[in-house]
Amino acid sequence: MSYSKRARTTPRRIRIRRTCVAGLLVVTAAIAAALGYQLLTSSSSTAASPIDVLRGEHRGLRSEHRGALGEADGAVPDGATVFADEIPGVANLDPDLLRALRQAATDAADDRVELFVDSGWRSPEYQNQLLRDAISEYGSEEEAARWVATAKTSAHVWGDAVDIGPFNATAWLSQHGDEYGLCQIYSNEPWHYELRPEAIDHGCPPVYADPTHDPRMQAAAVEGSAGSPLARRD
Ligand SMILES: [Zn+2]
Repeated sequence: MSYSKRARTTPRRIRIRRTCVAGLLVVTAAIAAALGYQLLTSSSSTAASPIDVLRGEHRGLRSEHRGALGEADGAVPDGATVFADEIPGVANLDPDLLRALRQAATDAADDRVELFVDSGWRSPEYQNQLLRDAISEYGSEEEAARWVATAKTSAHVWGDAVDIGPFNATAWLSQHGDEYGLCQIYSNEPWHYELRPEAIDHGCPPVYADPTHDPRMQAAAVEGSAGSPLARRD
């Protein structure tokens, strides 16, 4: 694996935590409401998609931190496209991934679909902030690990992953992404895309149920467990 060579260093930033807490309460309330709704409707297989619920939560975590860690750490403002060179979360993506995204976005535009970047490259500080918040959201490291990777394991920190929105854009990518080498990696994250160049000829590889099934996560978690409680995964 040569991911480490892509690791980027960014200056440490001062975190302003007060704004996080307020945002977190709102997000928590929304999740509680959503989960309650899911329980009420779980007897029907056509109930509101849990993915929509989870996606909303994912976005909540993202936007909430816009004020805590800024654009320089990878926070992406609403409405950023894959062409937004002035936004580090977009500009710091792997050049091959960015090229593929721009080709896809150009072709998607012909179908009147616009690809927006909800999240792209993230600094290690930003990733760890997301993970800490996810742990307090979900109540355990184990559950949080299904949704948020550590700074050592996240493909976002390497610049190798992008979260695309809105729904019609991910729907378009799920149909055409492999033509550009753009693949969904996790079944529970239909917005998360990475570059798999071999997909152009062979199609995308099977998805993992969630990040905990991704061998990259497991290897890096063992490797990086010393000294960081966030990196440990039993
Ligand atoms: Zn992602």
